[in-house]
Amino acid sequence: MKLYNTLTRDIQEFKPLDAPCVGLYTCGPTVYNYVHIGNLRKYIGDDILKRVLKINGYEVKHIMNVTDVGHLVSDADEGEDKIEKMAREKRMEPIDLARFFEAYFFKSTDVVNVQRPDVVARVTEHIKEQVELIEKLLGKGFAYITDQAIYFDVAKFPEYTKLSGQKLEEKEIGVRKEVVVDPGKRNPADFALWFKACGRFANHIMRWSSPWGEGFPGWHIECSAIAMTYLGETLDIHTGGIDHVPVHHTNEIAQSEAASGKEFVKYWVHHGWLLVDGEKMSKSKKNFYTIDDVVKKGFDALAYRYLTLLTHYRAPINFTWKGLESAQSALDRLYEIASALPEEAEGVSVDYGHSFLDAVNNDLNMPEAISVMWELLRSKESEKIKAATLYEMDQVFGLKIREHAQASKNIPEEIMQLVKQREILRKQKKFGLADQLRNKIEKMGYILKDDKKGTKVLKKI
Ligand code: AMP
Ligand code: ZN
Repeated sequence: MKLYNTLTRDIQEFKPLDAPCVGLYTCGPTVYNYVHIGNLRKYIGDDILKRVLKINGYEVKHIMNVTDVGHLVSDADEGEDKIEKMAREKRMEPIDLARFFEAYFFKSTDVVNVQRPDVVARVTEHIKEQVELIEKLLGKGFAYITDQAIYFDVAKFPEYTKLSGQKLEEKEIGVRKEVVVDPGKRNPADFALWFKACGRFANHIMRWSSPWGEGFPGWHIECSAIAMTYLGETLDIHTGGIDHVPVHHTNEIAQSEAASGKEFVKYWVHHGWLLVDGEKMSKSKKNFYTIDDVVKKGFDALAYRYLTLLTHYRAPINFTWKGLESAQSALDRLYEIASALPEEAEGVSVDYGHSFLDAVNNDLNMPEAISVMWELLRSKESEKIKAATLYEMDQVFGLKIREHAQASKNIPEEIMQLVKQREILRKQKKFGLADQLRNKIEKMGYILKDDKKGTKVLKKI
């Protein structure tokens, strides 16, 4: 299996430290707002990576953090904590707000069939581990204390920009453009490990006692502390959005490697953007849609998952509703073909199985894997082999093909009768009554899909 490694800037053969075990750390959400489909692209991408590792026989231990404190509005340690800011606007307790958006996050990742991590680690539940790591960095001389905070001293870590390949001077200039709020900071590129609950954070609600008085952790230290707690000092794979390369992941490497003296991560994987009209979909630009918006417009959540598979994970996707319509049509067609395949699937196709594995193992080439799937369905392989191979592929696609195929079979007579009655009412233009019947059918656990050819009945999944 080959993966592009941001650190080495090339595609490498993946060799875990302790096969068949693979330690996977994926940066999780900052739970201050509704997770949007741009964010979801990254979590679906992580899910695909995990599923590909699994079909290659690896035993994946997947850890994801949930940032419920410490992520400031600006990457340059400026502004308020995102969660406390939103909590004030919504007149909620910060922790209640965080739990609300965390629940929304998992509801959203569930509907796009993202497998849950083995460990979900909330930052507020790992303060001790973060304090210990900061103490270690202070003890080794990599960090210093000012009146307001504790900072990592980037000058002490010569390889600081190795992940981004940026020059430190460029980074310093970038940071200087923003107002540096702490005069005690030695270098504008130094970043906070801990904020003291004083000065601009005197009223910070979420705070913990520490050897340096009350305060709260900075954003980056959480991922280093959590990753090393669960996966040891060197991890196999760490993922995130491409925006995390120059700041968040750069800082994670500095903190972790300074503390342990070991390489932090073997393979760095970064996902590309979801764009809207050429711009990154983001909460701050307010150009975002949630998966609920997608479903409310009549699409399947899994049609969005299918859409993301049509582009390589490192390339940008320009999101359009038209694009999603095509993805939905392809998915409908796929489910329809699958529902005509025999239930007893047997014998995976050697040729198509190999081509599929070659594609997914080549730096997760999902567009290629999807086209192999369509070739299989058009091929002369037997129906049983097609079914078996398709379901095997779906271990990676995660499109619930088998469930959908079965959902359109064995619909009870009682439901079919109601569907026929609804058809008659629609022909008589009694749409109110027809809708009432649709609701009744839905309450009984079945979904109706009307198209040009008529009405399809599916069991709810
Ligand atoms: P956040 O909750 O804002 O920290 O973002 C969670 C993850 O989603 C991060 O890894 C981001 O890089 C990623 N992300 C945010 N916006 C987008 C987008 N428009 N397209 C793809 N990934 C994104
Ligand atoms: Zn992180």
